[in-house]
Amino acid sequence: MLTREDCLQRDAIDRLAPLRLEFALDELDARGLIYLDGNSLGALPRRTLPRICEVVQGEWGRGLIGSWNTAGWITLAARVGDKIGRLVGADTGELMVADSTSINIYKVLGAGVTIVGHDSPARRRILSERLNFPSDLYIAETFAREHGFELTLVDAENLIAALDDRIAVLMLTHVNYRTGYMHDMQTLTRAAHDAGAMTVWDLSHSAGAVPVALKAHDADFAVGCGYKYLNGGPGAPAFVWAHPRHTARMDRERWRQPLAGWLGHAAPFDFVEDYRPAPGIARFTCGTPPIISLAALECGVDLLAEAEKYGGIDAIRQKSIELSNVFIELVETRCAKELALVSPREPSTRGSQVCFAHPTGGYRIVQALIARGVIGDFRAPDILRFGFTPLYTRFVDVWDAVDRLAGVLATGEWRDARFAGRAAVT
Ligand SMILES: *Cc1c(COP(=O)(O)O)cnc(C)c1O
Repeated sequence: MLTREDCLQRDAIDRLAPLRLEFALDELDARGLIYLDGNSLGALPRRTLPRICEVVQGEWGRGLIGSWNTAGWITLAARVGDKIGRLVGADTGELMVADSTSINIYKVLGAGVTIVGHDSPARRRILSERLNFPSDLYIAETFAREHGFELTLVDAENLIAALDDRIAVLMLTHVNYRTGYMHDMQTLTRAAHDAGAMTVWDLSHSAGAVPVALKAHDADFAVGCGYKYLNGGPGAPAFVWAHPRHTARMDRERWRQPLAGWLGHAAPFDFVEDYRPAPGIARFTCGTPPIISLAALECGVDLLAEAEKYGGIDAIRQKSIELSNVFIELVETRCAKELALVSPREPSTRGSQVCFAHPTGGYRIVQALIARGVIGDFRAPDILRFGFTPLYTRFVDVWDAVDRLAGVLATGEWRDARFAGRAAVT
């Protein structure tokens, strides 16, 4: 079995180690806390607070409305979008930061069915996976209901078989939020195209964690989250991407996305009566972006850009796989009787998180583990979820986390009543 010493040695040769110093983890470290929930809310970069102070005091306080021009607020969403684009295989000018992931799903579904509907109006179905993230499904169901479509849900292994001539859009989350299962974007996109359908990819658990090649894999639309592996802070704005062949066609046909707001207008400050969509991805902007949150997101995204000098997203992915493998090996050695692996064992089909199931104690075990200073989370009905963020998770953190998990299980302390009460956010 891997020893704690082995893990310390792996940290000593970790080329991404300098980036951990860029996060405000001192207090966590001083209290012996181990954070394995960066897949839900990324940690705070050190540079975020001074940057936010500057945005609030300097740009807003002193610059006031002039800062839209002088501090570059009006182009910030596109600028941060370009930086995110580099992480997911999009070219400059193709990706915007806007709204939340949920809202962006609505917008790209609308754009997708507009295009498909023009060419093949008989396609009236949106296909997705039964275990997709609920918000994605709620939005798709709402969209379908309002537009006379039907949402068809199947198990992951039946997706390709379900792609028939009734499907307009295949909407999937690349890495599943519960199991960490990662779809093969290239194969599924090709299958969708062969069947005459478009693809919408949710990259919430992928961006900043695994390499994504939207353009190379010929995806159609994508959305994703800013507060997970991009470390943008709670409720950070999300992003939206469309393949340029689609935005070019939307330009030609003057098609809109369904939430056409003033900042997605070609000339918002003309204040004209008629809506004329801005060219390219800019039409996917709806209203005014949250500048303070956007500035915080840029700080998180900049750390991923800095990782480029240490090997970039490939080095991040490599370390993520190694951290996850060490976690699986240690849990299966020390807690095998109680916990069953839910995530794929094969790294190529796994994102940057590892989940284990416990038949009855999932929630309480996570609470007891938090009491011992290891922060993971619980996903109903029975899943203990642990996220690995290679920018700041160390191998020794993994070792210590499993050590405490083994302690929680061996002592049975999780059965204590104080771990039973459910908080609003699990
Ligand atoms: C985190 C996440 C979201 C979050 O959506 P919000 O609109 O930001 O609340 C959506 N979809 C998936 C798959 C996610 O993992």
